[in-house]
This record gives sequence, C-alpha cells and structure tokens, in this order.
Amino acid sequence: MKRSINSSDIFADACIAMGSNLDHPEQQLIQGVKHLRQLPQSQLTGCSKLYRSLPVGPQNQPAFYNAVVALKTALSPLQLLKQLQMIEQLHNRKRDIHWGPRTLDLDILLYDHLIIKTKQLTVPHYQMHLRNFVLFPLADINKTITLPGGQSVSSLCRQIGNERLWIEKNSFFEQLNSQLKKLSPAMKLKSNMQNTDTLTTGE
Ligand code: AMP
Repeated sequence: MKRSINSSDIFADACIAMGSNLDHPEQQLIQGVKHLRQLPQSQLTGCSKLYRSLPVGPQNQPAFYNAVVALKTALSPLQLLKQLQMIEQLHNRKRDIHWGPRTLDLDILLYDHLIIKTKQLTVPHYQMHLRNFVLFPLADINKTITLPGGQSVSSLCRQIGNERLWIEKNSFFEQLNSQLKKLSPAMKLKSNMQNTDTLTTGE
C-alpha cells in the first residue's frame, strides 16, 4: 500500500544543511535541492533563503554558500545519510582537506528530536549550535524549532549573531522559501519535536 505523507506519523522531520564553495556554488546548491526533492519516501517541506559565509577552516579558500532544507521522510537516519552521500558523489565531492573546499556538503542537522550517537552519525549535528550559517537558514524555515537540548533556534541565533554571514539575492531560494511556507499545516514541522529519544547503537 502506498503511504500517504499527510496521514501518518511514520514520517520524520529531517533538517539538512547544504554548503558549497567550488564549481559555481549557487548552482551546486540549486542542483542539490533538486536532487533532494527526488529522494525516495521523502518530500521537501521547507527551504531557507541562500546565504554566503566565510570559511571556518583554512582561510585560503572561497566563501561558502549555505542553505538548509526540511524534509518529511520515511527513510531511517542511516538510510538518509547514505542517500545524502550519494548526492554528494553526484556532485563529485572529494574529501581531501578537513574543513577544506567542497562542491557539495550535506549534513543531517536534526531528525525529529532524536539524539543519535553512532559511528557514522551524530545528530543533532555536533557543531550546529555554533554555526550561524546553519542556524539562520534553519530559522528561515521555522523560528520555533528547538534542539533536543531544549534551546530554540531563534535564541541560538541571537546568542551567536550574524557576523561573517550574508543573505544572497537568489530567486530560486526566495521563491521556494515562500512557496513551501504555504504548505498545509500537516506538512509543517511537527510541534511535538520536544520528545527527545536517544539512539546510541547501530541503525
Ligand atoms: P563531512 O566531511 O562533513 O561530509 O563528514 C562526513 C562524515 O561525517 C561521514 O563519514 C558521516 O558518517 C559523518 N557524520 C556524522 N554525523 C553526521 C551528520 N549529522 N550528517 C552528515 N554526516 C555525518
């Protein structure tokens, strides 16, 4: 039987951070969103505006372009990670330098309110509360999102500030951001994202 995304709680809300600073980064992110839209058992439910930020690691690399998307997905966290890594490969992602330049980086920020600590996956993403290029786009989707620790995204944004971060004018992201805000209430992020569960072993 085909599952209806609207009618079931088996769909988790996942928030994915996107970053790129190589080979036409804006296009990499637009193409990345198009690939994310095609993920199996998933539907795009939110998209931030487009941001530009200065690199966190080595400074002798171009500025990064960043965005965040939200999905309703029936994929498990590990299945989702594998799908994201396949999309990174489609973008010729190389892993040469830690925090170095990249065509497309896709990270799972949040998966419902799960806390996941396995070899392959740490969710919430271990540095998300420190990164304004993740927090501000996440707040574009929904300011009331809270992390499993209870901190709201909007209060984290206030604490961390918007230094070295700029909103880029980009019609693809602006249109998708406002279009997805008009989705029916059933498609919005669950308001029960306060129920924290912890997963410490395999999938
Ligand atoms: P990166 O170089 O940032 O793409 O890191 C990729 C590695 O981080 C992969 O081997 C993943 O298994 C691991 N990883 C751990 N937690 C996460 C997460 N929340 N999202 C994406 N990758 C993760």
